[in-house]
Amino acid sequence: MKKKVVIVGGGIVGLSCAYFLQAEGHEVEILDQSTMDSGASYVNAGYLTPSHIVPLAAPGMVTKGLKWMFNSSSPFYIKPRWDLDLFDWGLKFMRSCSEKHVVRSLKVIKEINELSKDLYHDFDRLPALDFHLEDRGVLMAFKTAAAEKEEGRVVEQAQRLGLDVCLLDKAEVQKLQPQAEMNIAGAYLYRCDAHTTPGIFMQQLKQYLLDNGVKIHTKTSVDAFEYKGKTIKGVKSGDKMWRSDEVVIASGAWTTSLLRALKIKLPVQAGKGYRLNEYQATGIEMPAILMESKVAVTPMKGFTRFSGTMEIAGIQHDIKKNRVEAIARAAREYYPGVNIRKETLEEAQCGLRPLSPDGLPFIGRHSRYDNLSLATGHAMMGWSLGPATGKLIAELIDEKPQSLNLNPFSPQRKYG
Ligand SMILES: Cc1cc2nc3c(=O)[nH]c(=O)nc-3n(C[C@H](O)[C@H](O)[C@H](O)COP(=O)(O)OP(=O)(O)OC[C@H]3O[C@@H](n4cnc5c(N)ncnc54)[C@H](O)[C@@H]3O)c2cc1C
Repeated sequence: MKKKVVIVGGGIVGLSCAYFLQAEGHEVEILDQSTMDSGASYVNAGYLTPSHIVPLAAPGMVTKGLKWMFNSSSPFYIKPRWDLDLFDWGLKFMRSCSEKHVVRSLKVIKEINELSKDLYHDFDRLPALDFHLEDRGVLMAFKTAAAEKEEGRVVEQAQRLGLDVCLLDKAEVQKLQPQAEMNIAGAYLYRCDAHTTPGIFMQQLKQYLLDNGVKIHTKTSVDAFEYKGKTIKGVKSGDKMWRSDEVVIASGAWTTSLLRALKIKLPVQAGKGYRLNEYQATGIEMPAILMESKVAVTPMKGFTRFSGTMEIAGIQHDIKKNRVEAIARAAREYYPGVNIRKETLEEAQCGLRPLSPDGLPFIGRHSRYDNLSLATGHAMMGWSLGPATGKLIAELIDEKPQSLNLNPFSPQRKYG
């Protein structure tokens, strides 16, 4: 049955939900508070990463986080502040940092990533979309034996799950990328990964949706809902209301406060990250994560992107100069021939990753309402997992068999 579906949030997750819902013949409207041209879905590293099988909540993360908290240019930072939501999120995060959670999540994360990567390839075959997608893999580049060993443990698990990954020495890396020397000891190459240029894909998907009847309302901040019993009747922004048969919440890092209007508690914190786009030629051809500094490097269409840091400091978009400079410093250390220009630093942008406490996204219904679906909390994997999330949400709304078991992604799951 054709339904009127209102989606709150027009990032990669919201657009992907819209795509699969309109394909099923539903009448879809997207409401977004922004102009839909910036934020996490635009500044990300563009990786599609079946390789990222280990969730953010893993053993050792609490100790690492505490150590890095006292270094203002460290790649991971929690701003200490009096905030009950942060406190609740932190407790759930700590409970999730267990071996049991990691083992349970490996296959789940791999499968949803693979589904999503296949869907990106389906998008790539659509005549209406002509975006940048390359299957070169991602290097995990290391300088030290400690980093090699740390990643080696992930590689063992990845290989057990059947992912294509191999160890390269420095000379082998340089053969793949002769124009940009790397100051490293070696790298693991996850051949299973791919990369994209997010801005191009977002622009094209938005246009595709508009051309196919989806209505998009920018600068429209949702602040309330009209509901009766277990049914949401409409979504409100100021004095305007959109009637809906189904509501999808894809509001990223803002979700916790938005859901208060529906009396739902969902733990999502904002994890700010930055990107630098260098438009001068760098010679970099291989996507690479610079392991010791946690910086991601992506050869995008027309520029090279350096991105990184995870700053848990609430909803704010301040550009912290020292963090931006730390990304540039790491780039220069790993690529001695690469010049990051002053204007590149000055034009740095940031985006907020929606962090769930256990590193798995929230995809599913909430028992409080019959016509509400949640699609958020994708943390560091939201770009990779957008399309799979859209497909799963469309299946849920259409009551079709699910491509994947949704239990691990339940918004009402237990932590630990
Ligand atoms: C530096 C960086 C690098 C990253 N690299 C990668 C990567 O390589 N691979 C990967 O898979 N992931 C990566 N990520 C993570 C990924 O970008 C995010 O997980 C993903 O973009 C989240 O998408 P989203 O649609 O859930 O949220 P968003 O893109 O934040 O979209 C949410 C939207 O909801 C809107 N909204 C919120 N509240 C309201 C409201 N009340 N009313 C109306 N609209 C509202 C917002 O305006 C926003 O447009 C990276 C993130 C960063 C910051």
